[in-house]
Amino acid sequence: MPEFCQISRLIRGQATADGDGVKLTRIIGTHQLLELDPFLLLDHFGSDEASDYIGGFPPHPHRGFETVTYMLKGKMRHQDSVGNNGVIEDGGVQWMTAGSGIIHSEMPEQTEGLLSGFQLWVNLPASAKMTAPKYQEFKHEDIPVEHSENGVSIKVIAGSTSQGTTGVIDNDYVSPNYWDVHLPADSTLLESIPESHHAFVYVYQGAVIVGDGGELLSNELAVLSPGKQLKIQAKSGSRLIVVSGRPLKEPIKRAGPFVMNTQDELQQAFADYQTGTLIK
Ligand code: MN
Repeated sequence: MPEFCQISRLIRGQATADGDGVKLTRIIGTHQLLELDPFLLLDHFGSDEASDYIGGFPPHPHRGFETVTYMLKGKMRHQDSVGNNGVIEDGGVQWMTAGSGIIHSEMPEQTEGLLSGFQLWVNLPASAKMTAPKYQEFKHEDIPVEHSENGVSIKVIAGSTSQGTTGVIDNDYVSPNYWDVHLPADSTLLESIPESHHAFVYVYQGAVIVGDGGELLSNELAVLSPGKQLKIQAKSGSRLIVVSGRPLKEPIKRAGPFVMNTQDELQQAFADYQTGTLIK
């Protein structure tokens, strides 16, 4: 295996809107990068204009995968058909396993100021697509952060670092890593990612060099090639997420809020939603 992970593809997101007019950048889930198995979608929302986000995401269904909401700034209230209700605040994460079906809403809890964060969709294996819905939610202060002498910090939402810092999310389906990494100018991150994983880096602040020299700017995503080490050098103070997971290598049939393995299962999801039997 090569010494370092390199940039195998560089993706810039597409400006779009979802929910009730929420402006966001879609990075995974467009024709440029429809999916990076097991990841189906990555949205980055971020604005200090209330009109860009205030409509939120009114009630809508999901079946067959997981939605992960990680808030950088701001407050988002979620409610779902299983009876969960709470507010995700600055630095908090909600990892929701929609499984057989859930109807939820995600609404901003604030009317001014900056609201920003990510939504990632993680596929479920065929064997778990109809599992009972559940969710895992953690506040910023409950998520471990590893600090290095060079000033680099790794907030470990899921997975574990080479130093053994282990995240809070329990997920055996794809054994994901989800790290929020902060790098001071001129510092270097050296980490490792399992060889079997598909991995990406998305820079949301600053500019970095990946591997042997691939430049990655703010609001750009790099799909990583496998390597013994992930080396990221910060050209300026930088913040980025590193996400990886074991690919499922199963057929994907998706439409709107449902992601299944076959066309029949997809049609069944729409039929169940229309007849009110999507949720138990
Ligand atoms: Mn949703």
